[in-house]
Amino acid sequence: MSVKHRIKGWLRAGYSRVVFHTGLHALIDALAPRRLTILAGHCVRPSSGDWPAGELLPADMAISEAKLERILRWFGAHYELVTVAEGVERLERGSGRNLLALSMDDGYRDNARVLLPLLQRVGAKATVFLESRPLDERRVNWAHKYFWILARHGHEEFVARFGAHTSDTATFHALNQIIAEGRGNELYHLKRILKYECDPLERDRALDLVFQELGGDECELCEQLYMSWDEARALRDAGVELGGHTVHHHILSKLDASFQAREIEGGVAAMRRELGREFPSFAYPWGRRWDFDARTQTAVRQAGFATAVTMHPGVNRPDTPRLELKRLALDESAELHLLATEACGAFELLRKLGLDLTQ
Ligand SMILES: [Zn+2]
Repeated sequence: MSVKHRIKGWLRAGYSRVVFHTGLHALIDALAPRRLTILAGHCVRPSSGDWPAGELLPADMAISEAKLERILRWFGAHYELVTVAEGVERLERGSGRNLLALSMDDGYRDNARVLLPLLQRVGAKATVFLESRPLDERRVNWAHKYFWILARHGHEEFVARFGAHTSDTATFHALNQIIAEGRGNELYHLKRILKYECDPLERDRALDLVFQELGGDECELCEQLYMSWDEARALRDAGVELGGHTVHHHILSKLDASFQAREIEGGVAAMRRELGREFPSFAYPWGRRWDFDARTQTAVRQAGFATAVTMHPGVNRPDTPRLELKRLALDESAELHLLATEACGAFELLRKLGLDLTQ
């Protein structure tokens, strides 16, 4: 990390602690223009009991139950807690208090078993974006097989076995290069190549073969990770908003227009069939600027969605494009004082004064 980055980090932490602990946040919140803050998480690690999914997921995909409860209780005291769809509607109407929506992506089992009781205890709401194939077929996307292989066999064995099964020699060479350079954090570097620099269907085919060869049981893995349709219905009945997140969780911008439309429409069609209602909100898989494009947004609109959330960091104002809503990432490294400072508009205020402390 550069010196400039480090200094910015200190300033950011110091400023947000002052804003949070002096109560300045409430004053800025009252003066700043209306906004909707959306938090974006994946899993909730239970405070007690076994959590088999914990060994199968990277650390940045989970937040502990205790930490999430503290965050929701604080925001519940200062903000109106809403679903994404309610938040967008309230933002348009311009009434009431400032808004916070919790969103969780993919449809992990703990959302039904840990998050739902927590929401009920705290009196909070949430939006859960469902990837449909795990619920429909008990099959998981490539990333979970990749995490499973790495957790058990390490990155070197993974690359060697992947190379033995793929016809994509360029990708195999690029993966080997990462191992040879020993850059550290191989999980991340290898994943970036598998995510962005190879043909997704060929990658999935080779990964499936490695996973099977090592004795992986996809149905069992899916049971440990993802909720069932019955659990999705329980969330629906408890007032949790459910939203679309495609069938396979592919990077949509890498697919042609008709494949993108099939992914988006197929996911919501399964949800309509199982859950019997319309779904106004959608989350782009992976959600970065380069993970979707104009064709994606056309398909999202045609599938009947009114809003779509990204992983672009920030808060939403009445003029934020409805298909490019921003979110703040939520995992165990999240800090309440930083989230609160972001949500109340204090970083935006500094930006207007010429000091940009955004990361
Ligand atoms: Zn996702």
